[in-house]
Amino acid sequence: MKQLAVNKKVGKMLLFEDIQRAEKIVAKHVVKTPIVQSKALSDAIGEEIYLKLENQQITGSFKIRGAINAISNLTPEQRKAGVVALSTGNHGRGLAYAANLMKIRCIICMSELVPNNKIEGIKEIGAEVKLIGGNQDEAQLEADRLSIEEGMTYISPFDNIDVIAGQGTLGLEIYRQIPKLKFVFVPLSGGGLICGVAKALKSLNPNLKVIGVSMDRGAAMYESQKAGKPIFVKEEESLADALTGGIGLDNKYTFDLTRKLVDEIVLVSEEEIAKGIHHAYWHESQIVEGAGAVAIASLLNNKSTPKGPSLALMCGKNIDIDKHFNLIAAKH
Ligand SMILES: *Cc1c(COP(=O)(O)O)cnc(C)c1O
Repeated sequence: MKQLAVNKKVGKMLLFEDIQRAEKIVAKHVVKTPIVQSKALSDAIGEEIYLKLENQQITGSFKIRGAINAISNLTPEQRKAGVVALSTGNHGRGLAYAANLMKIRCIICMSELVPNNKIEGIKEIGAEVKLIGGNQDEAQLEADRLSIEEGMTYISPFDNIDVIAGQGTLGLEIYRQIPKLKFVFVPLSGGGLICGVAKALKSLNPNLKVIGVSMDRGAAMYESQKAGKPIFVKEEESLADALTGGIGLDNKYTFDLTRKLVDEIVLVSEEEIAKGIHHAYWHESQIVEGAGAVAIASLLNNKSTPKGPSLALMCGKNIDIDKHFNLIAAKH
């Protein structure tokens, strides 16, 4: 029976109504982040270019949207047992925040190699941290054990229909703020963010184009789409650390949804990401992490040419402060 409860949503379609329903739950707990026009990018490209400042979201990224919606959709028994995830980054922070808000237990499993400041960061938000073994795979085994033996619900950072619908609330918000948009550039890793945002935006304006942006090092969704199925792509270090990692060979939702909803995927180099972070600070007065800079980077480097009012999503700001200092001090 437990197994059935865990798997009950496999194969469920993502509906526009799921995102509208998610917004009723999510909106009251998150900041409606501003959209500003970028003078520098508009001048450079010759179109109106807007920035969605989701880097200013609570916990420093959009991930709390999906986490709040996922927790809200748990059954009372599932809530009692709590949630578990595997993340040293924004998903861990987002889920910890959402669980704390909704007063349920949350365990984040990590390898023992994770730096102390990341561990403390997640504990501070209110989650329990379990340090297991010397790599991600062992941490994954512990997360699996907690879900099977203790009935905790494993929350994927992207391949979960409630998470995708939660991230989609960003799309509803963007459309309401600027309905005239023609192109929207969205950072892309596992695809939960872009699938939710694209579903919301295209339901409201079917002509709008959604462009995914990934780093050129280990772009798992890009390579998988090219191959026509989810494939293993070697993970590499990147300035856009929130975008690294695979999409899962057993991907349930985001591979198919990306094929249906995303018009194009473009890639940016490490140097281009570095310039994006630099640009965000000096021209837009924004602190962004690498993943938060890739949409700007793709525009600055003409990876795809937008026609008409367009928007770059700045999705996160959680970057090591010494690293950020070095990047903004660099000459470009
Ligand atoms: C998680 C994350 C992404 C990627 O989201 P996906 O749903 O995996 O595509 C992008 N930027 C930031 C800051 C993130 O935390």
